[in-house]
Amino acid sequence: MQRLHLQGGFGEKGRTSVLVDDGESRVMLDAGIKVGAPPEDYHPQLAFPANEIDALFITHAHEDHIGALCWLIGKGFDGPVFMTPTTRSEMDATLEKYANTLDLAAHPASKAAIELFQPGDELSVSGQKITTGHTGHVAGGVWFAVQSGGKRTVYCGDVVPESAVFPMSQMPECDMMLLDCSYGDDRTTSSERAERIIEWVAARPDGSVLPTPLSGRSLELLTILPGRLAIADLMYEPLKAQISDPELLRPGAAERIAVRIDSVLRWSPGSALPDCPLLVHDGMGSAGPAALAMEMAEKIGHPVLLSGHLPEGSPGHRMYREGSADWLRLPTHPTLPQNKLLWESAGRPRLIGHSCDARALDAMHSTLPALNTTAATGGSTEI
Ligand SMILES: [Zn+2]
Repeated sequence: MQRLHLQGGFGEKGRTSVLVDDGESRVMLDAGIKVGAPPEDYHPQLAFPANEIDALFITHAHEDHIGALCWLIGKGFDGPVFMTPTTRSEMDATLEKYANTLDLAAHPASKAAIELFQPGDELSVSGQKITTGHTGHVAGGVWFAVQSGGKRTVYCGDVVPESAVFPMSQMPECDMMLLDCSYGDDRTTSSERAERIIEWVAARPDGSVLPTPLSGRSLELLTILPGRLAIADLMYEPLKAQISDPELLRPGAAERIAVRIDSVLRWSPGSALPDCPLLVHDGMGSAGPAALAMEMAEKIGHPVLLSGHLPEGSPGHRMYREGSADWLRLPTHPTLPQNKLLWESAGRPRLIGHSCDARALDAMHSTLPALNTTAATGGSTEI
């Protein structure tokens, strides 16, 4: 028997976190924050006191999966924290931007007992066996399959089954799958989406600003956008680091992207916006050079294209709402047909969706009849 505690990211997007309790030990998967949420909803809802959690596993370094790490340490968590070397290398930058300032100063993640592993490794905590695999979402991003109490739960984290840049490993058959439902019932393929973004950029020959998270979508955009392109100066080293291990990318992608990164213009905050598409992080204007570039663009009516999740209260959300930015999704999560394939190849297990609201779950239910449409943060279930 396993009991799953939905600590964050269920019936909502952000603060993603799950706890698996087999009666012997408690394994926590992800510790995210929710951008734009009030303080009481910013961090996960822990099912147990933090010092009674045995280990933490992190899927990737996006803020909605790792941003609550310092907070968790501050709450008394002192177990091992498992992550890949790529996630480790990106962790500090994410925490600096999104962790609560007091937590970051008083409980730095460097104090944690961090254990590194590679995608594909098998890990264990007491009697719980955890297998891992590539997600296709970011370099070094992983899914977790937790086997304990005679059951297996697969937690997808964020996955992209058909990324042009990152590989995704087959997930095992399981009793329960926690599916990435970020896009609800969206059925539009990545290639159609990419085509629309290329057209939008081509129609603005005097330049544009494209906010994007530092990891994941930035490499996808570098791959699909033809012609002259600029990146924020601060992106150069982190992007090079993301392609430094070709094993973490699809065959040939690292070499192709390396050539591209070295040929693009580099923009420093403070100088004028370039007359070509400019990639800047983060994806919503909450932090990083995107905050300044978006402000500059808004002042002079320069085009801005957002392409990912826009939390309420973020600058990107406000600019889109007020008509000073456009939005076209560049997929970094599964479409509904892709989620159906993931479910079928896992043996049609029970399903709980993360990273979307209840309305999106309802819209997916006819295609995914095993999907629990009422599961919400704070709930728990037994398998
Ligand atoms: Zn992510």
